Amino acid sequence: MPSDIQSILDQITSYLPTTDTARIQEAYEFAKAAHEGQLRFSGEPYITHPVEAAKRLLTLQPDEDTIIACLLHDVVEDTDIDLLTIAKKFGKPVAQLCAGMEKLGTMHFQGQERQVENLRKMFVAMAADLRVIFIKLADRIHNMETLGSVRHDKQQRIAKETLAIYAPIAARLGIFNFKKQLEDLAFQYLEPVAYARVKREVAGTEKSRARFVKQAIRDVEQLLKENNVQGTVAGRTKHIYSIWKKMEKKGFDYVNEIYDLFAIRIFVETEADCYAMLGTIHQRYTPLAHRFKDFIAVPKVNGYQSLHTTIVGINPSGLPTEVQIRTHAMHAEAEHGAAAHWQYAEKKKSVRLNEQRLNWVKGLVDLHQRMEDNDEFVEALAIDTLSNRIFALTPNGMVLDLPVDATPVDFAYAVHTEIGHTTVGAKVNGKIAPLDSSLQNGDVVEILRKKENIPNRFWLSFIKSESTRSKIKSYFNALDHEENVAAGKELINTQLIRLGKSRLTNDYAILRTYKNRDLSLREREGMLERVGNGSVSAHTVIRDLFHIGEVATKHAPKNVAAQKKTDSKPSEVVIAGETQLPHNLAKCCKPQAGDPIMALMSPRKGATIHRMNCKMFAKANPDRRLTASWGASEAAELVSIIVESQNRIGLLRDIAATISGLRIDIVDIDMKKNNKHNIAHAINIEIHNISELASVLDKLERIEGVETARRMVPEKKERKKK
Ligand code: MN
Repeated sequence: MPSDIQSILDQITSYLPTTDTARIQEAYEFAKAAHEGQLRFSGEPYITHPVEAAKRLLTLQPDEDTIIACLLHDVVEDTDIDLLTIAKKFGKPVAQLCAGMEKLGTMHFQGQERQVENLRKMFVAMAADLRVIFIKLADRIHNMETLGSVRHDKQQRIAKETLAIYAPIAARLGIFNFKKQLEDLAFQYLEPVAYARVKREVAGTEKSRARFVKQAIRDVEQLLKENNVQGTVAGRTKHIYSIWKKMEKKGFDYVNEIYDLFAIRIFVETEADCYAMLGTIHQRYTPLAHRFKDFIAVPKVNGYQSLHTTIVGINPSGLPTEVQIRTHAMHAEAEHGAAAHWQYAEKKKSVRLNEQRLNWVKGLVDLHQRMEDNDEFVEALAIDTLSNRIFALTPNGMVLDLPVDATPVDFAYAVHTEIGHTTVGAKVNGKIAPLDSSLQNGDVVEILRKKENIPNRFWLSFIKSESTRSKIKSYFNALDHEENVAAGKELINTQLIRLGKSRLTNDYAILRTYKNRDLSLREREGMLERVGNGSVSAHTVIRDLFHIGEVATKHAPKNVAAQKKTDSKPSEVVIAGETQLPHNLAKCCKPQAGDPIMALMSPRKGATIHRMNCKMFAKANPDRRLTASWGASEAAELVSIIVESQNRIGLLRDIAATISGLRIDIVDIDMKKNNKHNIAHAINIEIHNISELASVLDKLERIEGVETARRMVPEKKERKKK
C-alpha cells in the first residue's frame, strides 16, 4: 500500500522537515517483506497493522526512530528477523525500541497472574524509554479497532485489559486523546448494550446540541472580539465511556440528565488571555458557585492545565454549561500529554515534565516489586492512576514524585536513604521549613544535613510515604534490643509527661493491661521495643492506654460555657468496629457521609473506603473486605494545655495557626508572662481523642521558640493509674 506509507511520510515531514524519508520508506519495505504471507485475523495483509498503528502514533508527532520502530514493531516477534539485523540496518536506538516492544509482545494474557507479570515488564520498558509505551498504545488502539475479528473470549480479555491498564496509563501520561479512544473501544466490547444505548442517546441530542453550540460559539466569539482577544471557540462532547461512567456515578437514567455532556472550549494565545476571558465570561453569564477550577495555577499531576467554570445563560434551555479556557499550547499538552514534549527535549521545561512522568513510572515499577499480591497491583493501578501525587524538585532540578502532603523528610529519603538518615533541616523555596511541613507541587526542597546525624524516631509520626517509613524502620530494626527498648521508653515517657501522667515505672506497670490483654513483663518490654524500632507509634500506644475523658478539663473555664458540641470529624469512619484505622476514601466512587460503605484492606495502603455499590469494589478479593460505617459523632472534650516558650513576635499567631491547621477548635487562650523572656500560654482546645491531643502537642513543641507543650494538670495531683 504505497499510498499509506506516502501519507505517513507527508505527515512526518510536515512537523519534522529534516526527516530522512528514505529511512522510513526502507523500514516500511523491510517490514512488508518480513510479514509477507502473514494475515491479520481480519484477513488483511499483516503490514496493514504496523502502518495503521504508525498513523495513530503520528498524532503524537513522534520522532523518526519511533516511527521506524513502530513500522518494525512486530517483525522481531512474528518473523525470523532478529534484533541484531535491525540494529545493523536501522541503528541501535531503533533496535532498542523494538526490543522494548518485543518484551511487551510476550503478553499473552491468560489470567490476572500473568497479566500482572507482564505489566511489570511493561513498566520497566516504559521507565527505560517512554517512546516504547507510545508505540504500544498506538498498537493497542489499532488492535482494539480490529478486535471484531477476534474470538469472543479473547475480545473480552483484551478489552478488560485495555480498560484496566492501557487507558489509565494513557491518562497518567496525559495522552487524553488516546485514553478516550481506548476507553470507548473497550467499552464497546465489554458492555455492548450500554455502549449502543449511550451512543444512540448522544446522537439523539445532536440536532439541538448543534444549534446550541453554534449559537454559543457565535456569542463567545463576539465576546473575544469585543475584548480584543485573539482566540477560537469550539464545542466538545464527552466521550461515550465517560458519559456512561458519570451516569452510573450519579445514578442517572438518561444521557441528557448530564448537563456537562457538552462543553464550550475557548482557545487563546496567552495565559493572561485565559484569565481575561474568564472575567469576561463571568461578567456576561452567571457562574455557578464552587464550579470554578484553576488548573493553570495548580495543574493536575499529569500536567493538565486549563480554567474550568460552569455558567448559566449561554444555553437557551437554561442548563448550566461548562466552559474550559486554555491556550493552544495547553490544549496540545492536554491531548498529547507526555508526548507533547518528547520531541522538544532540548527545552528545559519539557525535560522536567518528562522526568516527572518517568519518576511516576519508576515509582510504579518499585511499587509492584514490593507488592505482596498481584491482585492488589491491578487494583492499585486502576484506582490510583489518577489519584493525587505531588512533584517536588531538588535545587539542581531533579524531580521527585511523592504522595500528597509529603514532608521534607519523605523528600530526603526519596532522594537517597543516606540523605534521609542525615537530615537535620530543610529549606523549601529558599526558606527554612519544619521537617513535618506539607510540600506542595513544584516546591524546591533543599535538605540540610549533618554527617553524624541519625534518623529520628519521631519522624515516624508525620512522614507520609510508606517507603520512607520502611527505610526508617529498617534503620532502627538494625539497632539492638536494648537500644530500641530505651528509645521506646523515652518516646512513651515524652507522651506521658505531655499528658500530665507519671513516667513509666521500672516494671512498666501502665502496660500491664493493654487492649484487654494482660502483658507479661517481657511482653511489655517487647512493646517498648516495637515503639523504639518504629513498628508501633507512641501515639498509638498512648491512645490505647487513655481515654480522652481522662484528660479533659472537668469544669468549664471562665468566660466559656463548655458547650457540648455535636460536630464530628467529617470523615470519621468505623472499620470493623475500629474508629482509628487509617483509611482513604476511594477515588473511584468518592463515598460521602451517609452512603452505605465497605472497606477494602491492603497491607500497604491500609483501608480504602468504597461505596457498597462500587464496581471496583465488586471486583476485589472478598477476603480483604471489611464492614465499615460512618462513625457516630465523637463528642469533643475540652482540654487545657500549656505552651511555654521564649517571647517573640508572631509566636501567638504561629501557635493559633498550628492548632487550627489541625482543624482543632480553640476555645480560649490566656497569656502569662513568666519573666521578660519567657511566656506561657494557657490554651483551652476541643479535642476528640488522645491521638489528636498527642499530635497537637507534638506540633506545638516544634514551633520555633517553644520549649514545652503539655496538658495542664489540675491543682490536685493526679492519682497514679491503678
Ligand atoms: Mn502489533
